[in-house]
Amino acid sequence: MKVAKDRIIALEYRLHLGDGQVIDQSEPGSPLSYMHGRGQIVPGLEGALEGMGVGDAKKVVVAPAQGYGEHDSRGLQEVPRTMFPANAELTPGMRLAAQTDGGEVIPIGIHEVKGDTVVVDLNHPLAGKTLHFDVTVRDIRDATAEEITHGHAHGPDGHGHDHD
Ligand code: ZN
Repeated sequence: MKVAKDRIIALEYRLHLGDGQVIDQSEPGSPLSYMHGRGQIVPGLEGALEGMGVGDAKKVVVAPAQGYGEHDSRGLQEVPRTMFPANAELTPGMRLAAQTDGGEVIPIGIHEVKGDTVVVDLNHPLAGKTLHFDVTVRDIRDATAEEITHGHAHGPDGHGHDHD
């Protein structure tokens, strides 16, 4: 069986940004389980996995446009320093979660601190980055009818969500 649309893939992966320093990876012995062809992983990686078989390993280099997108300068916004707790130490490069008035939690990065204002970055932290994946396909199976209806993987390797 090969990696193809609507199959459930168990994938071991490691991600670095070109310097070999791993910034994300699947837990040892616990590969990522996802439904192929549904945009659940970045497009450049999904395309490269197409047609691979169980046990196949590959190095995949993904350009930003096929990864988390280019860095968008419109995502840089100035907000008053008072939006942050007074005792919070804000340093460029730091990441935190902010809550909107609607209660939604959004991840933001601190881009620059200029006295009374802070330039925050609302881009994905990996926007503008070239992604280097080392991947090994550990398992491939057909999705169940239920998984196809839901559009994601279930079961012991899935996200363990409730079916009520
Ligand atoms: Zn489901």
